[in-house]
Order: sequence, then structure tokens, then C-alpha cells
Amino acid sequence: MKVELLAATDDPEELICTAARNDYYADFVGEESFETVMESIDGDDIEAKKETLIGHLLSHGHFGPFEHPQVTFAVKGISRSCMAQITRHRHVSFDVQSMRYVAFDDVDPEDVREGEMVVTPPSASDPDWIGRNQKGGAVDEETVAEREEIFRESVTRSVEDYQRLLDLGMPPEDARFVLPIGTEVNMVMSMNARMLMHVADMRAAADSQWEIREMTEKVLDLAAEWCPITFDYYEQNMKNRKNRLAP
Ligand SMILES: Cc1cc2nc3c(=O)[nH]c(=O)nc-3n(C[C@H](O)[C@H](O)[C@H](O)COP(=O)(O)OP(=O)(O)OC[C@H]3O[C@@H](n4cnc5c(N)ncnc54)[C@H](O)[C@@H]3O)c2cc1C
Repeated sequence: MKVELLAATDDPEELICTAARNDYYADFVGEESFETVMESIDGDDIEAKKETLIGHLLSHGHFGPFEHPQVTFAVKGISRSCMAQITRHRHVSFDVQSMRYVAFDDVDPEDVREGEMVVTPPSASDPDWIGRNQKGGAVDEETVAEREEIFRESVTRSVEDYQRLLDLGMPPEDARFVLPIGTEVNMVMSMNARMLMHVADMRAAADSQWEIREMTEKVLDLAAEWCPITFDYYEQNMKNRKNRLAP
């Protein structure tokens, strides 16, 4: 899995602060310098003032201003299962690679057996992996070897069957029905900073599945570079709050 930041609002925290100051500012923020707009906020310099205001907004649940900055990520190689989970978030915009127009006819089934094209869950090869809702705990090496063999056989056979159906002239949009839910997909997704925090509340949580959690952690790392004061505060003070819905 890979996550890259494709595009994002410049100076997101200047925008958040300007929007928030608008709410309590007698003059028009559209005609003032950022320094003037931030004059009454505590802090020795403009960075400290931004920290003060952003900390205040987040600690008071004033999340509206965080809806202005937008960010777009490109995600490579997640399973269709993970894609189904993340696309449940209705305030995120998505483009998802099509299995109708992208046919996996040139994929070598032997590469699939080696782990390409279909995401392999850690529980297929790690005897110590404990999943959510799993009955019992760790298993022995022999059991996990059998699991891995069944998993690899099954996904390889699916891809072989898919390719045979394509060879028989079946359209990719129909042949894809035999592909596993672990089949990799690439996607582009855009959201605002508030929504990113909401997605992280739900999807970086311990009860989310390992794959979407891994993707969300990568998204959070990139968000921390893009919007550092906000996501540092989030990491320190808000992460792991349980499914918080709204202010
Ligand atoms: C661990 C885990 C397990 C899950 N298991 C299942 C499952 O088994 N089956 C299943 O179907 N889903 C499951 N989900 C998905 C979950 O129920 C949500 O549908 C999904 O996470 C989207 O989040 P959201 O509801 O916060 O909505 P989002 O689309 O992210 O919207 C953000 C917020 O906007 C508000 N909002 C958006 N749309 C509306 C609306 N129409 N009406 C009122 N308020 C709205 C809500 O406050 C919402 O929280 C699971 C999620 C997690 C994290």
C-alpha cells in the first residue's frame, strides 16, 4: 500500500485562523493582513498565535473553520474491502480505478501466488496475528502454513478463472465477479481537514480493520506535514477519542 499527497490548500492554517477570526471580528477579514487579523491572539509571533487559536478551536469543539482547507491523496494497492469501508464516508470525494475498463489480463497468476494483485492479510502468514472477533489466540506454524496455502491457491485460481473468462470473450465488467474482495485497487480521495479528523477518529481506532487503520495512519502522517499545528494537536489530544460525531 502506498499513500501520496496529490494536492492541498496552501497555508491551510492561515485559512483556518482567518475563517475563525471572521466570526469575532468587527472588520472585514478579506481586506486585512493576516497579522492584523491575528493581532489580539496570544503569542510572541505569528506561529505561536496560530498555535494558540488552533488549540483553542479544537479544545472547544469549534470545528467549522477546519472545513475550509482541502487535501487530496492518491492511494495505491488497497483491497476492494478497504475501499468499500473508506467510501462509506459521505463527505469524502473519490475516484476509484475501474475493473470495467482496466482488465488484469496481463497479470501472471504465478505473481498472484507470490502476493501481487491481491492483498494478503497478515493473518494468512503470521501465526501470532490476533484479529478482531477471532475465536482463540495465536496458532502454530503448521496451521498458519495451511491457511497461507489455501489463501494463495484460492486467489490464484480466481485470477486464472477470470483470465479464462476474458479469453472466452466475457466482458471485464462481468468476468470481474469471480475476483476476490482482496483484489488491489488504486483510488484518489479528497476531503477537508475536519473530515480527515473524523475519518481518523473512526478508522485509526483499534477496532477498525488493520488495512484501513494502516492507510489512515499514512494519511495522518501526510496531514501532519501539510497542516502541522492541527494534526499535532489531534495526535496529542484527540486521537483515540471514540467515534465522536460532531461538536
Ligand atoms: C469498526 C467499524 C465497523 C463497522 N461496521 C459496519 C458494518 O458492519 N456495517 C455497516 O454498514 N457499516 C459499518 N461501519 C461503517 C459505519 O457504520 C459508518 O457508516 C461509516 O464509518 C461512515 O461514518 P459516519 O456514519 O460517521 O458517516 P460519514 O459519511 O463519515 O459522515 C460524517 C458525519 O456526518 C453526519 N452525517 C452524514 N450523513 C448523514 C445523514 N444522512 N444523516 C445524519 N447525519 C449524517 C454524521 O454525524 C456522520 O458521523 C463500520 C465502521 C467502523 C469504524
